[in-house]
Amino acid sequence: MKTENKLENRIHTVQEACEALMALEVNPGTERIPVEEACKRILAEDVTAQIAVPSFEKSAFDGYAVRREDIEEASPENRITLKVLETIAAGSVGRYSVTPGTASRIMTGAAIPDGADAVVKYEETEFSETEVTFSQPAKAPNIVAIGEDVKKGTCLSKQGKVISAADIAMMAGQGMEQVTVYKKPEIAVISTGSELLTPGQELVKGKIYNTNPYLLSGYMVANGMKPQKYGIVKDDIDALKSCVEEALAQSDMVITTGGVSVGDFDYIPRVMEQIGARILFHRLAFKPGGAMLAAVKDGKVILGLSGNPGAAVVGMLRVGWPYMKKLCGMSEFCFAEAEAFLKDPYMRKSPGTRILRGKAQIIEGKLFFQLIDNQRNGAVSSMADCNLLAEIPAGSSELQAGTKVKVYFI
Ligand code: AMP
Ligand code: MG
Repeated sequence: MKTENKLENRIHTVQEACEALMALEVNPGTERIPVEEACKRILAEDVTAQIAVPSFEKSAFDGYAVRREDIEEASPENRITLKVLETIAAGSVGRYSVTPGTASRIMTGAAIPDGADAVVKYEETEFSETEVTFSQPAKAPNIVAIGEDVKKGTCLSKQGKVISAADIAMMAGQGMEQVTVYKKPEIAVISTGSELLTPGQELVKGKIYNTNPYLLSGYMVANGMKPQKYGIVKDDIDALKSCVEEALAQSDMVITTGGVSVGDFDYIPRVMEQIGARILFHRLAFKPGGAMLAAVKDGKVILGLSGNPGAAVVGMLRVGWPYMKKLCGMSEFCFAEAEAFLKDPYMRKSPGTRILRGKAQIIEGKLFFQLIDNQRNGAVSSMADCNLLAEIPAGSSELQAGTKVKVYFI
């Protein structure tokens, strides 16, 4: 009974934590940028086709624009010769209508002249400067219809989408020079810990180099966020308070690492209290990274992650990521989730939810989860080749190779 109560008080599940964050309103700003700079930015407007593409009927081949009925009876025995009116290059418009007994030489992409209803490829004709001869009827119209690619009025790309190369090409196809995108959210990253040194400083016993911001910021940059490194703050409550407050004023979200657990110098929970931030959760029922908190102040989230690099990154990705994507303006913030087979056995019990770091492998068309060797909380090396997180449900016993597990692509 006692244990149950303890469990009940403590700790929210990963799911509850994600939901608490996702329930918060976000209000990302927008900016106009040149279309060619928009790759991977988040679209802040629906892009609707103002023009059809193509906007005129055009030739699909180099050949002769004809009236189909003129050559309907053509055969090797009944060759039909038409008079050539002109040559129409791509980008220009013919001067003459194709009338009975005539044809116009036409290039791929050129506008079909009035009167013509088919294009016959060069290869299917014999021609001179002034005449073209057919020994078979037109096989196909070979005319690209108006709107064949894009119909006028259709929605090309939806607000909240990550802009792809094809989206940019479609915007360019509409003649657009600029597009409205969401501003990249600025996310402050604060490393807390009196043991931390900045790379470049001399290493002395008892100290370690600060790696977390490099790891966390890398994921942010790759996903369209703007990390702001606030450097190192010692385990000192006043210094922490003023740094967090400054970061809150200057950023859209604040992430701290370290000092969030139950150690004598773990001040982050107290800092939240003292600055008047509302705690959404503190400590979650998963490993590694469950020693984390989220709080809200002035509508902005502070995510306090564990200092251990492996735990910090798992906490950010598994719990913070959907919210951070929402902050970017993305309409799709769920993980790409799948079922994978464990490549090797995992010989540990999982009393609580356990998140494993691994690599995706496709073997004979099936997705396998290959466990990365070092799953320790502090292991930054575990992330070097990690592209898949597996979630092992609470209460699982040892897992045999081939067991199906839920995985997230990161
Ligand atoms: P803490 O969460 O403050 O208890 O820290 C847990 C562990 O992570 C300790 O071994 C710290 O030295 C280490 N650690 C804390 N912050 C960082 C950081 N920014 N980079 C690398 N390791 C860290
Ligand atoms: Mg610490």
